[in-house]
Amino acid sequence: MDYENLEPDVIKLLTKHFTSGRKGRKVEFVGVHYMASNGTTETCYSTWQTREASAHYAVESSGRVGQLVYDRDTGWALGDFDANCKSINIEHANLADGTVTKACLDSGAHLIAAICKEYGLGRPQWGKNMFPHKHFMATSCPGQLYGSQKDALESAAQHWYDVMTGAAAAPETPETPLPAVLSGFADLDADAWYIGAVELCVREGYLKGYGSGRFGPDDALTRAQAVAMIANYARADLTDYLEPYEDVSPNPWYYEAVCWASDNGVIVKADKFRPDDAATRAEVVAMLHNWSGGKQAKGEPTGYADWGEVPDWARQSMAWAVERGVVGGAGELMPTKGCTRAEAAAMLANLSKE
Ligand SMILES: [Zn+2]
Repeated sequence: MDYENLEPDVIKLLTKHFTSGRKGRKVEFVGVHYMASNGTTETCYSTWQTREASAHYAVESSGRVGQLVYDRDTGWALGDFDANCKSINIEHANLADGTVTKACLDSGAHLIAAICKEYGLGRPQWGKNMFPHKHFMATSCPGQLYGSQKDALESAAQHWYDVMTGAAAAPETPETPLPAVLSGFADLDADAWYIGAVELCVREGYLKGYGSGRFGPDDALTRAQAVAMIANYARADLTDYLEPYEDVSPNPWYYEAVCWASDNGVIVKADKFRPDDAATRAEVVAMLHNWSGGKQAKGEPTGYADWGEVPDWARQSMAWAVERGVVGGAGELMPTKGCTRAEAAAMLANLSKE
């Protein structure tokens, strides 16, 4: 059932035993009934087509809701015509002991709330905008809905009314909190695969965010960022190295790190450094391998479909990185792909493991 729009699960309109319109009356309350049987929309329809009685809605034990008389018309439900003209009446399927199922009670309560909201009747409350059939005549109706389940129906209707009117927030799914050191970053997902590695790298100062609350886990790692990251990881002394590049002036934040990396063979000295270019995964692996001493790999790794894409100049480094557990855990190497900041963090975290 669509409670917001009062569209029931099933519509099976009576052709008789109700009154068209409301004789100028407005809806003032909800009449609550039980079927005195574990019935359905269909059994109510059969009964009321053959008997001078009707109600607008039937709520079944499964929670399914059927409509038999439109809200704008008058049902013959309360044995009091004026009261009928001022009410919308709901029948509930019941069990042998006069109680209704949990599903039936919940749907009935939700429906009462939806009607109270739609017609401006206020928060559901017995005696104010919801009445038992027995309020109007001598009858056992509505069974335990005005007995052992009286309070349960009212409080469930109030709960749904609060939810539907925004007075109560719908229950939120609890989110995993970010590790404390990452709490300043709005763009990190505490459940993401990279979170442990990023936590380590931020805590140890290997990688920093951009300020303004961004870490940029999926951003491309630039070559300048890669070199700075490794310099941070190496706890490098950046004071004694001055090794100019054509395209690296002494001004930028990464200047000393680039000089250090060049002097220490982390990057191969060339005319240009290309600081703002995205670093490929192979380039980052090569820098890490160079910094680690350039140890010879035992052999070529097997089982990687994209091993053939590794450039010649990076093969030794990539083989070392696989042996060392720095890359390759996901079954592919992606050597020519741009390295993201999260991937770089993962490589460093892997390298940190002894
Ligand atoms: Zn009744």
